[in-house]
Amino acid sequence: MQLNLNAKNGKASNQGNSFFSPSKAIRIKYFTCNKGQDHEGEVLNIVCIKKDCEKHGLICSMCKAEHENHTTIPLKILLSKLQNHK
Ligand SMILES: [Zn+2]
Ligand SMILES: [Zn+2]
Repeated sequence: MQLNLNAKNGKASNQGNSFFSPSKAIRIKYFTCNKGQDHEGEVLNIVCIKKDCEKHGLICSMCKAEHENHTTIPLKILLSKLQNHK
């Protein structure tokens, strides 16, 4: 699985303002990573869902480097899946 480390550079952005987009968007209060250094200010918007990962759960894009072969999913997608499964 390829890590999309370029997302931060805007390469992954679609046209339009995807950040504040449509009415349907789920609003999430993001927390920032508290690991400091490179993690400073990085939002915890990714979830590692690998069961036996000792650090599974919310991670930031910098943490993700430590979860290279793990199954990760953007928090927003996970939440919308959970909603749909209600
Ligand atoms: Zn982090
Ligand atoms: Zn992991």
